[in-house]
Amino acid sequence: MTARATDVIVVGAGPAGAATAILLAEHGLAVQLLDRARFPRPKVCGEYLSPEAPRVLDRLGVLKRVDGLATPLAGMRITAPDGTVVIGTYRAVGDWRPYREHAMAIERALLDEALVERVRALPIDFREQVRVSDVLVEHGQVVGVEAVDRAGRVERLLAPLVIGADGRASVVAQRLGLRRGSRFKRMALVTYVSGLDGWSDYGEVFVDPPDYAIINPIAADRGNLSMVVPLAHAAPWSGRLEAFLTARAKHLPHLARRLAGARMVAPVSAMGPLAYEVDAPRVGGVLLVGDATGFFDPFTGEGIYAALRGAELAVETAVRALRKGDCSRQALAAYDRARRLAFGGKARVTRALQFVITRRGLANLTARVLALRPGLLDVLLGVVGDFVPPRALLTGRVR
Ligand SMILES: Cc1cc2nc3c(=O)[nH]c(=O)nc-3n(C[C@H](O)[C@H](O)[C@H](O)COP(=O)(O)OP(=O)(O)OC[C@H]3O[C@@H](n4cnc5c(N)ncnc54)[C@H](O)[C@@H]3O)c2cc1C
Repeated sequence: MTARATDVIVVGAGPAGAATAILLAEHGLAVQLLDRARFPRPKVCGEYLSPEAPRVLDRLGVLKRVDGLATPLAGMRITAPDGTVVIGTYRAVGDWRPYREHAMAIERALLDEALVERVRALPIDFREQVRVSDVLVEHGQVVGVEAVDRAGRVERLLAPLVIGADGRASVVAQRLGLRRGSRFKRMALVTYVSGLDGWSDYGEVFVDPPDYAIINPIAADRGNLSMVVPLAHAAPWSGRLEAFLTARAKHLPHLARRLAGARMVAPVSAMGPLAYEVDAPRVGGVLLVGDATGFFDPFTGEGIYAALRGAELAVETAVRALRKGDCSRQALAAYDRARRLAFGGKARVTRALQFVITRRGLANLTARVLALRPGLLDVLLGVVGDFVPPRALLTGRVR
């Protein structure tokens, strides 16, 4: 019996790659999914899932499992630098309804494992501990990858389409010369805390420029604490991250008050610089999805949803191109257009919010305006939660 030729090689089995592989396999395509790690693998993350993410998880056949593992989040409680508190809830806004009227908090190890379990249940050639080391390009077209297995064996794997879902350190993006740095130089510190007074089903955000922190209640008496600070402030503390986070948290008075009596129950993980940009591929035979396409800042928690939605869009283009037998750059260009349509508006809102939360006076003023117009905060949360189109903020269509 001859082996079936691979239609698509997907590099990386995080949310972007697993979702891409599942959807491609459901279209009957022969998929090879490669990840350098063995699952479950660690991933630094705030562990918030937008209320629209369940729609894609449902389509992928994992929502029931995720529901059993996640904590529902009714909304967000945001504390401004001057102590003004605004509370927004995930709810229908006009005609726009979230797939679920709540967001979710879930440990990444559990979410990613749920997706990988679904991968394993499908006829996908899933290979863990296989690291892609290079991208094979012939006559302006990607034709496959070079991969190294756990024993150090190097293999050339060929397919008409390669999808780079290999995250922030994407080898696919780097080898094609697409990755650029960003002028935003910030760093995230992430740990778990226990012993907080009065857990609720709201995520808690503390804005105190130049920092912000988020507490995300992922389980009974366990919260994900993520703090984002300027990279230059954290760099001298490498190797002493617990001490840095403890000292830094004391400088944010509202966060310090909230954390009084709580204790860190896990080592601190750090990630920085957070932001980088990635150009669209200039050759055919390749698509990028998830963090491999770039990343800005986790404040609006858009990463996992963007990875899942990006997978849907990539698969639409991939299936069409493979059916036509044309994976040229032109044939794949529809994906880039679809991404701009899906994510462009929210990216602009995210950047505007970043401008606000890095300026003390503006952050206080915004919080006071939102306190007077709680409906507007719900619209903003709907935009951040991916179920209200960003134009709703401009048209003032608020009910
Ligand atoms: C501090 C921080 C907090 C965040 N908080 C949130 C949040 O609360 N909510 C949210 O939605 N998003 C958040 N994000 C973003 C989110 O974590 C990412 O957007 C999401 O993980 C992207 O999924 P992905 O599949 O693209 O990448 P990843 O999850 O990084 O998966 C990439 C996979 O590729 C594999 N890989 C890498 N290189 C290779 C190679 N050469 N060969 C083979 N395999 C390879 C890796 O092992 C990995 O499994 C946060 C990000 C940061 C940095």
